[in-house]
Amino acid sequence: MSSRARVLLLNAALGPLDYRVPHGMDAKPGSIVVAPLGPRQLIGVVWEADAFPDVETVGDNRLRNLIDLIDAPPIPATLRRLIEWTADYYLAPPAAVLRMTLSSMAALEGARTVIEYRATGRLPDRMTDQRTQAMERIGERQGLIRELAMIGGVSDAVIRGLVKADAFEPVEVNVDTPFPDPDPAHAPPALSDEQAAAAGQFVSAVEARAFAPFLLDGVTGSGKTEVYFEAIAAAMREGRQVLVLLPEIALTEPFLERFEKRFGCVPVSWHSGLRQTERRRAWRAIAAGQAKVVVGARSALFLPYPNLGLIIVDEAHEASFKQEDGVHYHARDVAVMRGLIEKFPVILASATPAIETRHQVELGRYREIRLPARFGGAQMPAITGINLLTDPPERGRWIAPPLVQAIDETMARGEQSLLFLNRRGYAPLTLCRHCGYRFQCPNCTAWMVEHRLTHRLACHHCGHVIPTPRFCPECKEEDALVACGPGVERIADEVKALWPDARTAIVTSDTLWSPAKAAEFVKSVEAGDVDIIIGTQLVTKGYHFPNLTLVGVIDADLGLEGGDLRAAERTFQQIMQVAGRAGRGEKPGHVYIQTRMPEAGVIEALVDGDAERFYAAETESRRRANAPPFGRFAAIVISSEDAEEAAATARLIGKSAPVMEGLRVYGPAPAPLAVLRGRHRHRLLVHATRAIDVQDIIRQWLADLVWKSGTRVSVDIDPYSF
Ligand code: ADP
Ligand code: ZN
Repeated sequence: MSSRARVLLLNAALGPLDYRVPHGMDAKPGSIVVAPLGPRQLIGVVWEADAFPDVETVGDNRLRNLIDLIDAPPIPATLRRLIEWTADYYLAPPAAVLRMTLSSMAALEGARTVIEYRATGRLPDRMTDQRTQAMERIGERQGLIRELAMIGGVSDAVIRGLVKADAFEPVEVNVDTPFPDPDPAHAPPALSDEQAAAAGQFVSAVEARAFAPFLLDGVTGSGKTEVYFEAIAAAMREGRQVLVLLPEIALTEPFLERFEKRFGCVPVSWHSGLRQTERRRAWRAIAAGQAKVVVGARSALFLPYPNLGLIIVDEAHEASFKQEDGVHYHARDVAVMRGLIEKFPVILASATPAIETRHQVELGRYREIRLPARFGGAQMPAITGINLLTDPPERGRWIAPPLVQAIDETMARGEQSLLFLNRRGYAPLTLCRHCGYRFQCPNCTAWMVEHRLTHRLACHHCGHVIPTPRFCPECKEEDALVACGPGVERIADEVKALWPDARTAIVTSDTLWSPAKAAEFVKSVEAGDVDIIIGTQLVTKGYHFPNLTLVGVIDADLGLEGGDLRAAERTFQQIMQVAGRAGRGEKPGHVYIQTRMPEAGVIEALVDGDAERFYAAETESRRRANAPPFGRFAAIVISSEDAEEAAATARLIGKSAPVMEGLRVYGPAPAPLAVLRGRHRHRLLVHATRAIDVQDIIRQWLADLVWKSGTRVSVDIDPYSF
């Protein structure tokens, strides 16, 4: 007898393939192996293995031998099931899901030490422009030659030259160095009665080692983090691993600090910004069960924890948990599925849960734990609407008189203000006053956004940039270009004009692009070095500034335009979150909401501070529209660089749409971004009742259709926008 292994290959679009396990190779289900495919050698995971008569063929197929067994812990059976479930549910190739598990090939290589490089502080004898640029950009950072070359914007050869010239030196990094263990008894807080009751429920659930999905629904500032930290402590005492999913990398720095205070050391981080060596070390520690607590972006969900006992999804309502390319999965939902398969509790924490999550509570599937009051007696902020139609700002300005006055008073008291506008840059549109020309991205259906800080116009969808032009490319007129509408940079200009002495900070992904930058920002606000913060949705998240007492929402209507069925929910969440930054300490907070639609239901509910009314009304309108969570949507997006081809394929798919009761197909129509990165996009929207197996229908529908190889058809099950 020898054995046969069914292997899921990492780089192939194919399903699992059969191989023969050579004598002496201990390949079992879950083993990571190297297998031949045509002339190539690919990494894969043994999905199944069975004993097999000692012959060389199965049917007509000659089985090829596996080439090698990689020295890494096997992928547990439960994770293989999760990968299968994710691939099935989101209609993705299993290999694409597996790639998230084996996230970097480097993680699998045998070597225990890696050579990285860092600056020595010595200047080379001969400087060139490239060397200067590289050394400036790299600074103190350490990494592989390739990574440093990327950061420095130069070729590998330039870095190697700098190593030779003694400006950089090798550093040996051991990828098996263990991470320190957090200590559950390090510094437990004194919890309020309410917090203790909530924590008690989590602790029992963790100890019960059974699937238990929770919604931790606590107002901003109620101390949700302190409460779920006790669940983490319980899981560690049980000897199990914990994963905390956070929506933004910028958020992790304050989180890490709080974690360290509570547990004595920072957890293991997992996100796309890790260096390859860090990634490799983290992966090995996670797979070996050595990394006890991992805090990560959504991709951390598919890592091979051998012993996971708890997942926390913080700010669980965040749209960024939904991946919008590759495998279109929702990390919140897959986290719950992982808890179900591996039998442990999953805690979704949010002050503004998704309608879908609330609905699960109503159906009795998720248990809700509420923290209705802020910790330490802090009051919820008062909210006032400013009707821009009756109380408009001065001409060419965006801050209305009542908000100007409130900022005046806040400044006078020595307290901090936050102005929120969810738009990066200076102005969303630049046009020529003379001929009407508008600057549009050549690759996307989108305006070029002016960034005055960097003197550029940029497309926020594909990253295309041009230097800010001086004259109109159409009519060549000089001094005729005008910025239309505000972005945060423009609001910052207005703030400087109104309060020349105010110290300001702009918070967007342009200014807070690394955890270190985020930490710097937090420090400066905490130290009282900032009077007025002007920011995008990045400031709505997780920050706790006790001296920040005023929040002004510049344009509450921004998210309501566009007619998306989720618009009201998104607006409610965003404004509640930003309002939640006000008055978190002893001083009460006040929130002003500028709007042209004071009668819109969501704005009224916000001003009245009546979350329940909003949820009830929104749930009812979803029910009437048979929208999620009642009905379901799936989007099929067809894209191609060739406009004709994209349209033709969309028509082809549209024509063979299934006809059945309970299912409707809308479109094809141009997708919300009709051209993106040079690809023309069309969309079909499938709307179905819950009873219908949408995945199965789409699978059959698309199975027999063929399209040109340059055309891409991607399916998005439960799309975020519908
Ligand atoms: P949320 O995540 O619900 O908005 P946080 O967990 O950030 O709230 O808590 C708000 C503030 O209250 C934080 O500064 C936190 O340190 C503090 N806090 C919450 N609970 C406690 C506690 N039991 N003891 C001391 N401080 C607490
Ligand atoms: Zn673009």
